[in-house]
Amino acid sequence: MTRPIIFCDFDGTITETDNIISLMKTFAPPEWEAIKDDILDQTLSIKEGVSRLFSLIPSSKKEDMVQYLRDSAVIREGFEEFVDYTAKHGIPLYIVSGGLDFFVHPLLEAYGPFHGVYCNEASFNDSTISILWPHPCDEQCGSGGCGCCKPSILRTLSLSEGSKVFVIGDSVTDLEMAKLGDTVMARDFLAEKCMENGIPFIHFETFHDCKEALEKEGVVR
Ligand SMILES: [Zn+2]
Repeated sequence: MTRPIIFCDFDGTITETDNIISLMKTFAPPEWEAIKDDILDQTLSIKEGVSRLFSLIPSSKKEDMVQYLRDSAVIREGFEEFVDYTAKHGIPLYIVSGGLDFFVHPLLEAYGPFHGVYCNEASFNDSTISILWPHPCDEQCGSGGCGCCKPSILRTLSLSEGSKVFVIGDSVTDLEMAKLGDTVMARDFLAEKCMENGIPFIHFETFHDCKEALEKEGVVR
């Protein structure tokens, strides 16, 4: 039997909404909207855009931002049960996120441990926030500007092992890893992008749907 391995996005997938957008709405001056639009129409790479967004916010806001998201971020229904289910059946679950360590880790704290959590890192050493990129694109990624390069991580962790790769996500930033997955669980923009690109996917709204999909795929002994 091939070994199942799961790659799951964070913002908009594990949490119901995008945490970077929530932070900008609350903590950034109005200029953030133009930067967001440039990211969306791909005038700016995600990497460059996220750097510019956080450069708008003073480093002194760190604790306020963490507290704000602890209070307001909603974890998608069924996530806790899904994590327990994968742990019980020994299925590696990796979180791959374009979000930042200072909020990804606190929001996941109650659910782990995970096989791995891959995200970007924020530095609060200067007057405004700067971003570090510990998971850059490999030579096979056409983008070069992913920030946290999900397909590169997936290639490193799974392709050498003949694994059955499950990808769970919600946005265009998950498309390149969806192309590499054996089974894709998608909602929102990722579902649309999968349709446009002819990638078969299972639609999900809660993590109960994801658990059901794993059961149907027969990967659980
Ligand atoms: Zn990349």
